[in-house]
Formats: sequence, structure tokens, C-alpha cells
Amino acid sequence: GCGICVHKCPFNAITIVNLPEELEEGCVHRYGVNAFVLYRLPVVKDGMVVGILGPNGTGKTTAVKILAGQLLPNLCGDNEDWDNVIRAFRGNELQNYFEKLKNRQIKPVVKPQYVDLIPKAVKGKVRDLLKKADEVGKFDDVVRELELENVLDRDIKHLSGGELQRVAIAAAILRDAHFYFFDEPSSYLDIKQRLKVARIIRHLADSGKAVLTVEHDLAVLDYLSDVIHVVYGKPGAYGIFSQPKGTRNGINEFLRGYLKDENVRFRPQEIRFTKSSERKSQEGEILVEYPRLVKDYGGFRLEAEPGALYMGEVVSIVGPNGIGKTTFVKMLAGVEKPTEGEVDWELKVSYKPQYIKVDYEGTVYDLLSKINAGKLLNSFYKTELLNPLGVPDLYDKQVNELSGGELQRVAITAALIRDADLYLLDEPSAYLDVEQRLAVSRAIRHLMEKEGKTALVVEHDVLMIDYISDRLMVFEGEPGKHGKALPPTGMREGMNRFLAGVGITFRRDPDTGRPRANKENSVKDREQKEIGEYYYVA
Ligand code: ADP
Ligand code: ADP
Ligand code: MG
Repeated sequence: GCGICVHKCPFNAITIVNLPEELEEGCVHRYGVNAFVLYRLPVVKDGMVVGILGPNGTGKTTAVKILAGQLLPNLCGDNEDWDNVIRAFRGNELQNYFEKLKNRQIKPVVKPQYVDLIPKAVKGKVRDLLKKADEVGKFDDVVRELELENVLDRDIKHLSGGELQRVAIAAAILRDAHFYFFDEPSSYLDIKQRLKVARIIRHLADSGKAVLTVEHDLAVLDYLSDVIHVVYGKPGAYGIFSQPKGTRNGINEFLRGYLKDENVRFRPQEIRFTKSSERKSQEGEILVEYPRLVKDYGGFRLEAEPGALYMGEVVSIVGPNGIGKTTFVKMLAGVEKPTEGEVDWELKVSYKPQYIKVDYEGTVYDLLSKINAGKLLNSFYKTELLNPLGVPDLYDKQVNELSGGELQRVAITAALIRDADLYLLDEPSAYLDVEQRLAVSRAIRHLMEKEGKTALVVEHDVLMIDYISDRLMVFEGEPGKHGKALPPTGMREGMNRFLAGVGITFRRDPDTGRPRANKENSVKDREQKEIGEYYYVA
């Protein structure tokens, strides 16, 4: 039996029909009549990293504003007094926290979600910004750890997304606060940078600070957190923070779509990871053999070794930022002309760029129906792609008014409904929450399998890579200077090659099969490095 009645849960629109009565006393904030309602809050504890896992629009930022003292919760009534909040949380670990917050004994620091907006608010050189933030006297250490030496004298408005992210994290860490909140610290970063940032945030907690983080890359969340809360509910309507759960168990319950303590099923299907060796890669026919390709930009040179792509397979492209992944994909898409070699095939290619330009006047439905009206009505595409990505809910919106995550889902959909032989998707998970990433992964896999088409996907999220890939294409070299694209290989060989370069080992979770990063220097980490099995031991 299901304690809370949950009816048909499309992949990312979690719908719970009846709220249990006991929740009402956990009602923390209601923005207004018929407006969003937040139930319960996450724990905050000195010396701990508390992770939050859940879809966008379920109250994560609202909870953080409350914990940072920026929003006085109305307790779903007309409360205007912190004393009532303290009373409402009596016996809860948050009682003490709110007492301190009321007495201004808590100083919070927030690393915001949208780092792209920072240049609008902050002007000047990186060095000056970080010097000003430095209340703990660790400027040199933090700059070195986050590899910011080369951008110190640059103006903030000239930074790339990944550089802005690392500057924002550095600025937060340099503050002397009690409570640190990191909202999506991995956006724009490559895997090596993601795990490095995770370690730096962990050190904050190890030094006694209270840390809260929202993270949609599950491998990073897993590596980073001591406990997690799953947030469930109906995006835009209400959100409920689960009890704190052990990180491993919490992520597994999330993947299963069922929260045990709460007795709530919020997704009909569970997400399972198969060992990639079980996949039948290279059993299909060859779609195309591409030649050696070189692109020389003057400052940067990419050399791609020749390779072959098969029908019905998904190949993931992995490698650090600035190594030429986008450049390679653009050459296959016919957007960039190679300096050496030629892409002269008869293939139809559909391409989703990394940076999505919006110059379309009209609604989402207009745009998509112009591309392929038939597929919008096709029941396979409806169940496998459109509904899981929540696209029909966006049909009436103007394309140029979409948020980052909405635009990403529309762009992925636009690419996947085109009739093509080869689908090129450059960083499809950017701006997506965890549930949407899983939905996109399933859609890509199912469409390629069913239609016998081929997809090349540039991605940094290890769980997504593991879930979707038949094979892997590894990029190596010196970021910003020169890159080399190796031919596609099997997952094991590719992951070993790639992770050896990054210096990180992964194991598989026995229950869900999902990849988990080993802690540096743990027994498993050392054993696996010794035998050269960076990804998993059979
Ligand atoms: P998340 O961080 O999980 O994406 P938020 O806490 O930002 O979620 O928002 C949860 C919901 O509350 C959203 O539907 C948002 O539109 C709504 N909301 C946020 N701030 C306000 C506000 N000041 N007034 C009314 N609704 C709001
Ligand atoms: P990745 O996708 O792996 O992050 P890119 O292919 O986007 O890398 O970029 C690789 C390198 O090529 C970067 O140093 C980038 O600045 C440079 N680059 C990309 N496009 C151009 C261009 N049009 N002109 C000059 N340099 C470029
Ligand atoms: Mg790129």
C-alpha cells in the first residue's frame, strides 16, 4: 500500500493527490492564497554537508532564504515573529539554529545558482573581488586550489561559465561565516573540477562549518554529502522536504522513485543502471566512418583520429573543458570547416549546440510543429520524449521567454524530433534538474534503440554518461592549447583511459548499479588504481 496517494506520475511532474494530514503541522511557508507552499525544512548542522536532491520549483531556494534569515516564514498563517518560528521547531534540531539566527549569531553565505548573472551585479577584476571577500586570510590557498591564478587580472565580465563558477565558490569560501549554502556548484565544470570543488566544500564542513548544497549531478552529490533530503511534491504548487537520509540510501530511494520512511512513490518507474559490458555495442551496421580531422584556430588546435559510428548506438564524448569537444561536434554538424580532412557524407545530421541561441519569434508549439508536426502526435514520441520532458506544458509559451532549463528541454526536443541519421547533443544536462536529466537520458536511449539511429552526446555528468552510453570517445591534451580526440572505444577501456587522466576511481553501487566515486586514498581507490581499473571492478 501507498501511504500517500500518488496518481500517474509523469516523469518530472510529480503529482500527489492527497496531502497527509500530519503534514499540515509541518507547513512552513505559503506565499499566498493558491500560491506555492513549503512543508518542512532541511537540517543544518555544524561540521556536516547536507545535500538537497529534487526538482526545480519545489521550494529549495525558499528554504535557503528562510535558513539564511532573508525570509521570515509565515508558518502558513499570519506569523510575523521569529519567536513563533523557534516555538514551532521546538524539539527539532532547527530550534537552536533559529534562536541563533534571531540573535544575529549566524552569518550565512550563499553561492547563487545562476553564476551567469554575477557580471551584472559585480564589476571589476577577479583579484579585487576575491581580496575583498577574503575574511579568513586564505586568498592564496583558495586561488591555487580552484586554479584561478590565470584569471586574477581578468575583468569579471570576460570570464567563461566555468571560471565564473569557480570565482563564485572561492568568494563564498573566503568569507568567515557559520552557514554556507552552495546552489548547484557543479554547473559549467568538468568532472575533475566538479570533484575538486566537492572536496573543497567538504573541507569547510571538516573545519566545523554547516554546509547546505543543492546539486543535480548525483555522483557529485554522493561524493559531497553526509546526509541528503529528497524534496518531492508538485513543482510550482508545493514541496515537501523528506526526513534526512543517509546519502547512499537517499540517492538509491530517489532512483527507485520510492521514499521508504515517507511511504511515498513519486515516480512509477525505477532507474536502473546496467553494466555497460552487457550492452551489445558494435553489433549494428556501421553508419559512417569519418576521416582524420584537424581544426586549427591559431591559438588552439584539435586533432581527431579517424573513427566509426554504428547504427543504434549512443557514444558519449568526455574530456576537460577547453579541449575541443564542441569544435569536433561542430565539424560533424557542418558548422565548422575542418582545417585538414573533410566531412563529405550524405548523412542527415541533427545538432543541439552547447550554447542555445534564441532568435525565434513564436510559441514553443509553433517552433516544434514546424520542425516535425507528425512526431508531436506520435504516441511513442509522446510517451518517451515529450511527456517525460514536460514539453506539452510549454507549448503555449513564447520561445524567447523561456528559462534556461525550459529552453534546454525545448532545444533537446527540437533536435530529437528531426528526421536524421546522426544526432549531436552538446551538453544536454546543462540547466536541468536531476529528474529532467534522468528523463532526457531515458529518451535518448529509447529513441536510438527503437529507431536504429546514432547519437553523439557531450556530457560531464557521470551517471548520465553511464546510463546512456554504449561507447565512449575520450578527448585528451592541454585545455586551451591543443586537444586530441581518440576514436570511440568500449566503455571499460574508455572510462579507464579518461579517469586515469582525472585521477579518480569509481565503483558500482550493489543495489542500483549506479557509479559512485571512491574517496581519494580509500582502500578501494588504491586497489583499483593499482590494477588500472578506474571505473569498476568486474
Ligand atoms: P526551487 O529552488 O526548488 O527551484 P523556489 O523556492 O525558488 O524553488 O520556488 C518554489 C515556488 O515558489 C516556485 O513555483 C516559485 O515560483 C514560487 N515563489 C518563489 N518566490 C515567490 C514569491 N516571492 N511569491 C510567490 N511565489 C514565489
Ligand atoms: P570544449 O567543448 O571541449 O570545452 P571547445 O571546442 O569549445 O572546447 O574549445 C576548445 C578551444 O578552442 C578553446 O580554447 C576555445 O577558446 C577555442 N575556440 C573555440 N572556438 C573558437 C573560435 N571560433 N576561434 C578561436 N578559438 C576558438
Ligand atoms: Mg563545449
